[in-house]
Amino acid sequence: MSEEQKKKKKLDRQRVRALLGDAWDLIWRSRRRLLLGIPLLLLNRVTSIILPWLTKVLIDDVIAKGHHELLWELAVASAGAAAIGATTDYALAQLLGMAAQRSITQLRIRIQQHVQRLPVRYFDDTKTGVLVSRVMNDADGIRNLVGTGLLQLCGGFVTAAIATTILFYLSARLAAIVFIACFIFGGVLAWAFKTARPMFKQRSVVNAEVTGRLTEGFSGIRIVKAYTAEKHESRIFAGGAHKLLRLVLGTMRIVSGVGAMTTFLVGMVGVVVLLVGGREVISHRMTLGGLISFTMYLALVVGPVVQIVSIGTQLSEAFAGLERIREILGETREDVGDAEKPPLEHIEGNVELRDVSFEYTAGVPVLKGIDLFAPAGRSLALVGPSGSGKSTLISLVAAFHRPTKGEIFIDRIPLADLRLSDYRGEIGIVPQDSFLFAESIYDNIALGNPHATREQVMRAAKIAHVDEFAEAFTDNYNTIVGERGVKLSGGQKQRVAIARAIVANPRILILDEATSSLDSESEALIQDGLNALMKGRTTFVIAHRLSTIRKADQILVLEEGRIIERGTHDELMALDGRYRALYEKQYGVVVNQFINPGEEIEDLAVKT
Ligand code: ADP
Ligand code: MG
Repeated sequence: MSEEQKKKKKLDRQRVRALLGDAWDLIWRSRRRLLLGIPLLLLNRVTSIILPWLTKVLIDDVIAKGHHELLWELAVASAGAAAIGATTDYALAQLLGMAAQRSITQLRIRIQQHVQRLPVRYFDDTKTGVLVSRVMNDADGIRNLVGTGLLQLCGGFVTAAIATTILFYLSARLAAIVFIACFIFGGVLAWAFKTARPMFKQRSVVNAEVTGRLTEGFSGIRIVKAYTAEKHESRIFAGGAHKLLRLVLGTMRIVSGVGAMTTFLVGMVGVVVLLVGGREVISHRMTLGGLISFTMYLALVVGPVVQIVSIGTQLSEAFAGLERIREILGETREDVGDAEKPPLEHIEGNVELRDVSFEYTAGVPVLKGIDLFAPAGRSLALVGPSGSGKSTLISLVAAFHRPTKGEIFIDRIPLADLRLSDYRGEIGIVPQDSFLFAESIYDNIALGNPHATREQVMRAAKIAHVDEFAEAFTDNYNTIVGERGVKLSGGQKQRVAIARAIVANPRILILDEATSSLDSESEALIQDGLNALMKGRTTFVIAHRLSTIRKADQILVLEEGRIIERGTHDELMALDGRYRALYEKQYGVVVNQFINPGEEIEDLAVKT
């Protein structure tokens, strides 16, 4: 065996051990229920063992030997066994089904908590639908591990073991022949599982992919319709669905093949019992009752073996799910190490970037050697051509990404040393495309601060001019805004987002101005809200509006990831460099240097 193979084997073994550890962990968590299940299960199995024995007594003792007085006792024993069997069946299903659902819920919650703490980078690389499937479907797979599956398997083994002993007691020769057949069957099963497991794993991966793409297609339905891309979407979906189908068919082929094998084997065993058993009875080595109960016990052995087939595939699925869950839980959270950092009480809001560089893909720098200082309470405008790195810069300030090189300081403390959740509590973001949840207007605003009182929310709504449209709706602030806020106009959404930031009362504010020309009334209202919001906060704004740029305490001009000019509007105009060129191009004005800059320019800017 080569080094590489050895290494792979070792990794495989580690993986399997880790998975078994996870499975044990899950089982351990529901140990009380499972423990309670064991006596119930034993009782349940004993009743199933008793019934064939009663048949033997009936034939051999009551009928053949004429002990008629035993008949009533037999009837009572049968009825009792049936009653106990039924009750325990029901209790087991209830107990274990509940245990499974509880475990699934716990696991789902755990995965969701973990996933939302993963860095933004992870979400950039993963389809939302895939993550949804991780949380919902993969967790569901473990149902078979902690639920009835595992215990049924154990129960099956117990029954099979007891029944086997009895079989050998009834006729060792017959039992031995039957068991050779079962061993062959076991080998086939082992092979089937080994083949099926990767298929099950891939099946869920493809399932998540298809779900992810489907989700995307539906949320982008307007674009799909506008560009009559329905056929294209259908083709993609049909492709994915068929890929899934092929995998499902593959697993089904194995499962049904094993099923057919089972039927055949059971038939063959029947033939053996008929021939060998018949002879045994004829030559008086076995009683008639013995033979009949033998066939009944045989069913008790074969039954669990067949059950193992179906439970085995279920367990295959459970393990495949566990493996993917393990993968995702193994991703490093962005707040790792937060517990050791001192809590953050309050910040002034001084932000400094020292020689900060950043790359999304190794070797492709997007920001290069950025130095900047944003004093507390002042505004800083970022301007520059699209793709120059403005959004990237503010996502570093929001700690969505970490610098590849250099450091960010908040009030002279390295950002990396601050507790992430505390720091995020001090920042507010109004993105270009405001994200609203499909909840009420009120809830969307209150999201900014879970401790906000109704008065605070209402006041924020007023400042951001949300009241003007919200009060016109029949449901007022309880109006549900639709997915991503589709039921509101762009300007209305923006105003809700501003109100949300006002409620959050952050020290550091991040704004990505909307480029789309909102209608002038909306724009004025938004501007008014923004002015109120920015007051006294350190503000980073990706600025498109003339008024914002002009008012900023500091303007940075970005180009290809570098700051190429910085200063106030007047200083930069006087510099007569990139800023001025950009400005004149964008606003279609040629500024005569001899006109007092800053005066009445806004009136000239209407050509935008
Ligand atoms: P701006 O906001 O100035 O238009 P961005 O900061 O959005 O520019 O983008 C700067 C560069 O980084 C672009 O070349 C863009 O393609 C790249 N980029 C942006 N986001 C990502 C991402 N999540 N992964 C990889 N590259 C990205
Ligand atoms: Mg951008």
